[in-house]
Amino acid sequence: MSERYDLIIRNGIVVCPDSVKKTDVAVSNGKIVEIAEEISGDAKEVIDAAGKHIFPGVTDGHVHFNEPGRSEWETVTTGSSAIAAGGGVAYFDMPLNCSPCTLDAKNFNAKLAVAQKDSLVDYGFWGGLTPKNLDKLEELAECGVIGFKAFSCHSGIDEFERMDDFTALVGMEKLVKLGLPLMVHCENAEITKDLTSIALANNKTTVRDYFAARPPITEIENVSRMITFAEETGCKLIIAHISTAKAVELVAQARSRGVDVSCETIGHYLILTDDDVERLGTVAKCSPPIRNIDNQTKMWAKLLNGDIAIISSDHSPCDPKIKVGEFMKVWGGISACQTTLPAMLTHAYHDRKFPLVDIAKLTSQNVNEIFKIEGKGKIAVGFDADFALIDIDEEYTLEAEDLFYKHKVSPYVGERFRGVVTQTILRGTTVFKDGKIVSKPIGKHLKPNNLG
Ligand SMILES: [Zn+2]
Repeated sequence: MSERYDLIIRNGIVVCPDSVKKTDVAVSNGKIVEIAEEISGDAKEVIDAAGKHIFPGVTDGHVHFNEPGRSEWETVTTGSSAIAAGGGVAYFDMPLNCSPCTLDAKNFNAKLAVAQKDSLVDYGFWGGLTPKNLDKLEELAECGVIGFKAFSCHSGIDEFERMDDFTALVGMEKLVKLGLPLMVHCENAEITKDLTSIALANNKTTVRDYFAARPPITEIENVSRMITFAEETGCKLIIAHISTAKAVELVAQARSRGVDVSCETIGHYLILTDDDVERLGTVAKCSPPIRNIDNQTKMWAKLLNGDIAIISSDHSPCDPKIKVGEFMKVWGGISACQTTLPAMLTHAYHDRKFPLVDIAKLTSQNVNEIFKIEGKGKIAVGFDADFALIDIDEEYTLEAEDLFYKHKVSPYVGERFRGVVTQTILRGTTVFKDGKIVSKPIGKHLKPNNLG
């Protein structure tokens, strides 16, 4: 006897693009083939999801998994496992802090080879844009990068140079032709550099000194400038990890006059404040820095307003040895790719009554649409059968041993969450269940349809 479907998930509360409803979902050959109140017929596998919410699997648009070259910081195996444990089915890996950085086809292919072997879930890659590789953008586009990443300020890695104005102009003009977006880390290079030098020269190295060396104007000014470049060149621009409500406002204003610009923020700018960073210490250091409660309140209002397109993790781990010491001098970067969806369920849905369909858009649908990944990002017929099954009311305290990261450190250890990922399904195959990875690596390379 042959079954009609590979998989039926019955009785779940499904987060569809426009509604949340109790419905069955049927899957064949890794795709969603039917969504209906009651689906008849047999399947090779049936999941009774009564009482569970079913989200589209998370696509994390911004992680640093560090392979090849810095596997002592994080690996594709550990990082992609953490993605799955957080309800994720895909991630886009940044062109740093692997070594060598992803600045040409040769280094892209070295990175691809690791992911093909080790990635539990699907993956896309960012190419880098620096003054040194303006002649390599075409070959990176041919490799299938989802977009390019550049830094306005020092990147933290000397081999990944900051984008000067000439590189911004010529790079954006090239990306228009390639049909690919540019994501920029927006902090003013001169102000951050000089304020940091002055602070260090005066032995000012505390957490508050760090905040003072990277004030909000460094982001606001640079976002404004990058919008000007995008408006003049026509390049699709995404502001990385936006941290100030004022900069979000600049993006919204530019969009309303037709500029193709959007912004990503990160859970920690919505959940943590400067006071939390002072309490938590270097584990919560990142750049741009986490701001005060007043800004955070305004950021939530912007999110509720629809002015922020994407929530990513900016998972940026390192060897714990370089997180020890004076705040000003230690590595900046937060490990968070396992907790984005639970954090949003806790702080957006439970605390602020934020609609579940909007959480699904911010963590999955918008990411795939902006980067033109076809057939991924929502629960709809014809799309990949990517799901996160959630016990939405169950509470837990995150323990270090729950983390799949290579180094089990995160500012969220010890935090209370409400909303547990019980199972993650990638293209019809369960990859994570009840706290365990249950599949071999089955990730595949996601490329944008940038010609469409
Ligand atoms: Zn990053």
